[in-house]
Amino acid sequence: MQHTSYIEISKSAYQKNIEFIKEEIGPKTQISIVVKGNAYGHGIENIVPMAEENGIRHFSTFSADEALRVYQASQHQSQVMIMGMLANEDLDQLVEKGISFYVFEFDRLEAAIAVAKKLNTKAKVHIELETGFHRTGFEWEDREWLGQILTENLAHLELKGLCTHYAGAESISNYVRVRNQIKNYKKFKKWFDAQKIKFEKYHTACSAATLLYPETKMDLVRVGIASYGFWPTQETYMYRFQSLPENNKNPLKRLISWKSSIMNTKAVKMGEFIGYGSSYMAPRDMTIALVPIGYGHGYSRMLSNQGKVLISGIIVPVVGTVTMNSIAVDVTDLEKVQKGDEVIIIGSQGDKEISVASFGESSQQVNYELLTRLPQDIPRRVVE
Ligand SMILES: *Cc1c(COP(=O)(O)O)cnc(C)c1O
Repeated sequence: MQHTSYIEISKSAYQKNIEFIKEEIGPKTQISIVVKGNAYGHGIENIVPMAEENGIRHFSTFSADEALRVYQASQHQSQVMIMGMLANEDLDQLVEKGISFYVFEFDRLEAAIAVAKKLNTKAKVHIELETGFHRTGFEWEDREWLGQILTENLAHLELKGLCTHYAGAESISNYVRVRNQIKNYKKFKKWFDAQKIKFEKYHTACSAATLLYPETKMDLVRVGIASYGFWPTQETYMYRFQSLPENNKNPLKRLISWKSSIMNTKAVKMGEFIGYGSSYMAPRDMTIALVPIGYGHGYSRMLSNQGKVLISGIIVPVVGTVTMNSIAVDVTDLEKVQKGDEVIIIGSQGDKEISVASFGESSQQVNYELLTRLPQDIPRRVVE
């Protein structure tokens, strides 16, 4: 059956992004591709094999269910790391499969040790530190007790990482806060070094930190948004623009295109209202085309009378309100439009483009939000 819209994921764009990130971090640092939020809307099952084709062997998820999907999609025994939620009841399965996970509280640490003992193996843990994000992480005051438990249980723990997360490295307004976090992390690391507690990898950087704070790169970077072809913010791009190579001023390429097709067309007389209510009155005799995507598909209602799509290489506006399953667009000035014609919601056609950013500006969503709100049931396909 035909779907109302579909999403294409570009392999060649992905390859370019990974190349750029590799150049940025150099040969000593490993990349972990962050695939939370269904790989930022791209589909875990699409991204994992594509990343592995580009040499990636490490993935980060938010939750245990995502981690299992990565584990199943991996064809190269890649390492999987859970940065957020898991229930203690899931630990058996995770430890057995060798999936590593953040530990930011004593309860999870003790549960992990108990499971590892029971299974006669080691739990792979990343110790998360509170450095100033104030969400999750062990406090400075916890260090003695934490250090003692780790030392006493090395038979049941593989200390995979010592990590933290920055509170907004993508904006210069957080500069002082991030600097303090770096300082706090170093203080923790020094303390563990002094206790001779060694971790396999020291890792703190997300995309923005990787691009803006070189010293945060360490042994492994956890890169999400940049791998999908977006600068974390416009500000990040501006900051880095001068330092990008002359022949590659636009190194991050969008992978995603979102496409639909015209469902029907209709003539509307001047003075008639289009769609629900009275938000749009035809200022002239018009032809409108209906496109079967709406807020139920992640096309925000904020885009009512604001959004734009591409048809026949021409950018045309949304007229009237976005409904659950459709939008109307003004195609009066297009030469020939008919049912079935391709409609680009995100992507290019001819020499025109609707970027995720432009789309986000009118709906006040950040890239991250827009991407992850794309429903899982829109079919995705990988294209060259
Ligand atoms: C989401 C996330 C990342 C990746 O962030 P990007 O800005 O997409 O690169 C890294 N680390 C943690 C802990 C995260 O939650």
